[in-house]
Amino acid sequence: MLEGEWEPQVYLNQFLKNKSLEFENSLGEYELIQEYFSDIGSSYLKKNGISLSIGDDATLINTPENKDSVQSVDTALEGVHFFNWMEPKDIAYRSVAIALSDLAACGASPSWFMLSITLKDKSKDWLTSFRQGLIDVSDEFKIPLIGGDTTRGGLSITVHVGGIVDRGKFISRKGAKEGDLIFLSGSIGSATNDLTSLRKEKKGFKKNNSRYLRPKARISIGKEIIGIANSAIDISDGLIQDLQHICKESNLGANVYLKDIPFYDLKRAKIEYINSGDDYEICFTADPLQKKRINKISKDLNIPITVIGETVKGREVRVISEDGLELEIESGYKHF
Ligand code: ADP
Ligand code: MG
Repeated sequence: MLEGEWEPQVYLNQFLKNKSLEFENSLGEYELIQEYFSDIGSSYLKKNGISLSIGDDATLINTPENKDSVQSVDTALEGVHFFNWMEPKDIAYRSVAIALSDLAACGASPSWFMLSITLKDKSKDWLTSFRQGLIDVSDEFKIPLIGGDTTRGGLSITVHVGGIVDRGKFISRKGAKEGDLIFLSGSIGSATNDLTSLRKEKKGFKKNNSRYLRPKARISIGKEIIGIANSAIDISDGLIQDLQHICKESNLGANVYLKDIPFYDLKRAKIEYINSGDDYEICFTADPLQKKRINKISKDLNIPITVIGETVKGREVRVISEDGLELEIESGYKHF
């Protein structure tokens, strides 16, 4: 070979050498996916009808007969849905749980999740902890991670969840009837209170039990109220604000009684909490005749379910004090 002549093989070898040096210092995209996002919940693939998962161009899902496929996507952003002082495993858990909460509100049983993540960098510690949070939520709901996308940029986490519901049984926001009772699972205000405590790093605050870091997706309730609830929504932005969505979609109004709203801590019940959001409880409406069955569900699941009001003709959601006065409520969380 003459000096200076271009030789493809030599060029390629040099290129590969440089490339492998790059990989030594930091993982490539493929290795990153392999190491941190593969094999999460693999033992749940088969039972959820996933015949091809991470590693191909797309994922193959067998939808069971007589079921409808229910899907929802949620993006979690730093400073809005999570904060940089949170542990990556809690960020991961929270991002998936809030997506699952939408399935709960529809009465669906979750089957899988996908993760599209944009990362600032590839810190091993960060990713190891993040993976743990994915494993935690995968094991809790028995669902596998079946695909996604990985890119570099400002931290952003998009979770796509899929589930199934018996054909035609999907619970929507639209179905409320005039005179329905309005029910709420659990209580509200705890996540907001936790967030305030976490920010102040209060002594003795038990991080593990935090409803903010680890919201409960009420899948069990959603499944049980199929055929009972006329409409449902999960409380993400604020109780009254989210109830307004049911009312708007169902062309109804509602009366909600302040004294009946279960605040997480009665001593510290504050009207501000009524729309504070992040509760991920289920608010649903049902015919008053269903009350007995709903009480039994509450007892069986060991989750309080409380009547907080009723739907009425009109368009407004009114919050009424013990003296029968209509209260002014601050609006819930608004992204725009
Ligand atoms: P393509 O270039 O064909 O889109 P990718 O390199 O983006 O493929 O992804 C390769 C495989 O890895 C795909 O199966 C994809 O679903 C999966 N994947 C990529 N990123 C993630 C992630 N963050 N979580 C789970 N699976 C992922
Ligand atoms: Mg891709």
